[in-house]
Amino acid sequence: MINFDLTARVAVVTGGNGGIGLAIAEALMESGAQVLIVGRDKKKNTAAAKKTGASAVSADVTDAGQCADVIAEAEDQFGRLDILVNNAGTNVRRRPDELSAQDWHKVIDTNLTSTHLMCHAAYPMLKRQGGKVINIGSMLSIFGVPYSPAYAASKGGVVQYTKVLATAWAPDNIQANAILPGWIDTDLTRRARQEVDGLHDRVLARTPAGRWGEPKDLGGIAVFLASAASDFITGTAIPVDGGYSTLG
Ligand code: NDP
Repeated sequence: MINFDLTARVAVVTGGNGGIGLAIAEALMESGAQVLIVGRDKKKNTAAAKKTGASAVSADVTDAGQCADVIAEAEDQFGRLDILVNNAGTNVRRRPDELSAQDWHKVIDTNLTSTHLMCHAAYPMLKRQGGKVINIGSMLSIFGVPYSPAYAASKGGVVQYTKVLATAWAPDNIQANAILPGWIDTDLTRRARQEVDGLHDRVLARTPAGRWGEPKDLGGIAVFLASAASDFITGTAIPVDGGYSTLG
């Protein structure tokens, strides 16, 4: 039997109070894991915890001290940590010639630096029994567009960082992989559709599956990468995009 069971496993999901993170948290829980959701907004955290039965903690993952507090919370509540999902993310859509230094830092810190801070804080607990790191990249880990310089740089960085984790932590039986979502209907992309003319139809036209993704489209790959079924898979970046990245 292939083992997708996550019973007795503990997961931390950053940005787990909405969108893709919430769907991943739900999928991990359906497979038996206990989940600690992380987000800044206490109201969203409370609503997500109520909806799923997960625990939630309020923290800003751009801050090293708060990342350490999140991991301490997992230790206090559950006594172990098996799965870390680095999903918190943001974007500021401006051309490179229009993006301020402040906005550059905000996006890089939220998407990329946070991934390192959480991994750094989580490592001592993950290595006790081995574990899984799942980092969320993007189509902009691969492609360029004129309007997302810091976002694309951060998401390209997430893929390279994932490869480093995979090589550094393999001896600890920690596998690290990235998921590259295509265009998924969430708050983040609702804003994008308001800001970028024609985006909705362009995505539809370019996606062989003929639809936008839904957050729950990310559930299966997250469970797979969190489970023993993927124990010999590490350092990869797997598109979940309805074929968007394969269309020539
Ligand atoms: P949402 O805007 O719906 O969710 C973003 C999440 O990140 C929220 O839970 C938010 O919670 C949290 N977050 C943001 N900043 C911080 C912070 N500093 N500290 C802690 N939590 C934070 O976006 P999506 O669900 O669409 O995106 C999730 C991930 O997937 C992101 O990394 C995004 O780049 C990536 N992605 C999304 C795609 C899409 O099409 N939707 C495509 C490719 C990648 P709070 O506000 O409470 O802090």
